[in-house]
Amino acid sequence: MYLKQKYKLNIFKYVLLGYNIVYMKAAILKNGRIEITELPKPILDEYGEGAIIKVLGCGLCGSDIVKLRTGSVMDGTVLGHEVVGEIVEINSGTSFSIGDKVALGHHVPCFNCQYCWGGNYSMCRHFKKTNIKPGGFAEYIFVSEEHLNNTVFNVNLRLSDIEASFLEPLGCCIRAVKRAKILDNYKCLVVGLGSIGILMGEAIHAFGNKVYGCDLIKERVFASEEFGFEKSFLLDNEDEVLNKMKQETKVGFDTVFLTAGSASAIDFAVKAARDGATIVVFSSIKNENGFKNNDIYYRELNIMGSYSPSPVDLEDSMLLIEEGRVKVAGLSVVYGIDELNQAISDTISNKIMKAYIRL
Ligand SMILES: [Zn+2]
Ligand SMILES: [Zn+2]
Repeated sequence: MYLKQKYKLNIFKYVLLGYNIVYMKAAILKNGRIEITELPKPILDEYGEGAIIKVLGCGLCGSDIVKLRTGSVMDGTVLGHEVVGEIVEINSGTSFSIGDKVALGHHVPCFNCQYCWGGNYSMCRHFKKTNIKPGGFAEYIFVSEEHLNNTVFNVNLRLSDIEASFLEPLGCCIRAVKRAKILDNYKCLVVGLGSIGILMGEAIHAFGNKVYGCDLIKERVFASEEFGFEKSFLLDNEDEVLNKMKQETKVGFDTVFLTAGSASAIDFAVKAARDGATIVVFSSIKNENGFKNNDIYYRELNIMGSYSPSPVDLEDSMLLIEEGRVKVAGLSVVYGIDELNQAISDTISNKIMKAYIRL
């Protein structure tokens, strides 16, 4: 069986150490597709401190699809990181216990390096190395003690599993909103109204700022207005839309969030921004096609990126979801783990905004 290739070593080690191997269902990457297979369930003893979490569900992230399409991760990898689950085994100094329902972030910064001191927690090399094992699209995962200490949160039982699974993606948006340093009377624009664009708008709104949106898909433009957007524009005729936007803002938008990854989206963001505006880049792009030097110089534009959430952003995210200040219900469609390939193609074809994979 395929799993034996990547996990051969693990299995060998487990046998040597006398562990009883139990198998679980998991979705692995193979040749640009997902294959459902069986992997050894993580063994807590192997890691020492930490917890085993029974995954209840896991959101499908745009970054999972990028990894799958670009082949940037190895075959055999288990994708998925927007996990909600229940602690079933634990050996930890934290106050978590068996039976706790939790949502989590998958990377933990060291808090003690040049990147962390500068507030760039998601650039910390330790952050990039840490992860849940093997990945969210599996029946069980292992989380380390430092995850438990920093990026795992108890889920208020009033919340549905799906709502709780938005902890990490909303945390990413919250980080972007904080980094943009939006002033009180600023008008913000979100370019791209997929699930991340909607969450970004909701985060901007929750922080007390006016937000507008635009997208090429009519249904998304309509939907956004239920999620705290002041007004959204259908990007059918660029010049007309830019004119309408000028009527709203007079000079252009103060802050523009780019959640759609394409050269034309960059171009549009630059046109919709006022001179001196901040443009937050929040998506990857297939062919590097960047901003123009002279736009940045003569128009004094601030171009900044924001990537992944820090533990504090996750904490803020949980609070906003719990208090209902950000509405996440209704954004995702539920699929079983066996339907993961379908969920991926429905997301790529924009048939759905977001998929939640139930384990
Ligand atoms: Zn994600
Ligand atoms: Zn660090």
